[in-house]
Amino acid sequence: MSYDLLIKNAEVVLDNGPVRLDIAVGDGKIACLRENITEPAAETVDAAGLHVLPGVVDAHVHFDEPGRSEWETVADGSTAFAAGGGTVFIDMPLNSFPTTCDPEAFAAKLAVAAKDARTDFALWAGLTPYSLDKLEALAEAGAVGFKAFACFTGVGGIDRADDYTLYAGMKKLAALDLPLMVHAENAEITRGLTEEFTAAGRLRARDYFASRPIITETENVGRLIHFAGETGCRVFIAHVSTARAVTLVTEARARGVDIHCETIGHYLAFNEDDVERLGAAAKCSPPIRNRENQTRLWAKILSGEIAFISSDHSPCEPSLKEGPFLQAWGGITACQSTLPLMLTFGCAERALGLPALTRLLAGNAGELFRLPGKGRIAVGYDADFAFVDLGREFTLRAEDLLYKHQVSLYTGYAFRGAVRRTMLRGRTVFLDGKIVSAPQGRFVRPERRK
Ligand SMILES: [Zn+2]
Repeated sequence: MSYDLLIKNAEVVLDNGPVRLDIAVGDGKIACLRENITEPAAETVDAAGLHVLPGVVDAHVHFDEPGRSEWETVADGSTAFAAGGGTVFIDMPLNSFPTTCDPEAFAAKLAVAAKDARTDFALWAGLTPYSLDKLEALAEAGAVGFKAFACFTGVGGIDRADDYTLYAGMKKLAALDLPLMVHAENAEITRGLTEEFTAAGRLRARDYFASRPIITETENVGRLIHFAGETGCRVFIAHVSTARAVTLVTEARARGVDIHCETIGHYLAFNEDDVERLGAAAKCSPPIRNRENQTRLWAKILSGEIAFISSDHSPCEPSLKEGPFLQAWGGITACQSTLPLMLTFGCAERALGLPALTRLLAGNAGELFRLPGKGRIAVGYDADFAFVDLGREFTLRAEDLLYKHQVSLYTGYAFRGAVRRTMLRGRTVFLDGKIVSAPQGRFVRPERRK
């Protein structure tokens, strides 16, 4: 018996805690997990002093190809993601162009990602009034699920889903056994307030917060709970920004509705005061909320009410962030930093346990999106790992960023917990600050049970 790879002396983060174990890998999968494995292996990695976590599964990135490679590319975005411990990303149907709303656009995006992705990947498709008759074909093509916008999007090619589209689409998706993720903000209120403030010359950060008040999220989440319950569709609320919306979803799930929350690192790391200081670089929608909400959102993380944390890595050309806050592009680059951010602000500062962290950053998304072999360290799963030095402190510098544009809200911040190595299916992708292998990302199709 001989293995391809043996990882020795690691603190392996399993479902119930870190355990000192060796990991043997064969054919890219975890073949054995046990103390002191002595069988021979072609390669041995000594992980003494490091924690080995499941690689990050990021369910929400915008790598913008094909069509907007001046904003971000799959090559650069996924490279940065790998440097942050990432091993599976799920790309959104925008801001690539054409948007991923028909099988041809899906095939075009798949071709780019299959060539350039540094990590494994799955793909969202879009639910719009014009894609309702294409859901079956997109499901066949391997879409992990569908994304819809309750509000207006601000980019072409992905119209908001009106109530008929949501209702009819959710019934179809329930039959196809695929989930819907919704950007849940009330369209009319957000548009009306934006127009009112624009006309009045109210263009500052505080005005932007006021243009998207909390009711625009909670009202919309309430309606989606109703739609989910009636149609039986699995629903994820994208980037939930308020603790009140999380409570609504928790209560609905307790009544048997199949609905979960995603939240994003920047709602946890920052509040409105930070946004005023950081400017349009910190603009996203829904907006980053006030300090009290930030504290309550952390409580929702610690209570286990939020299913997973994504980056919502949503870059743009830097020039689109210039000008008045209300009119600047909304979107934040982040996928390289989610794991260090959560190690710092979650584990080091708030006693978030490592097993809970790995569920939030990998396990729950792997399970809820039914990605075979992804998201856990267990025999039979893919050998996708982030090797982390929990004690290492570092300050993120712009030159450390591997995105297309070296811009991030997190530059200048001190982190405690650094990614030393990322491994994809048993092969090292990133090691001590450097990418060390060619792109080898594979497309992951979700398991469908109907
Ligand atoms: Zn997004």
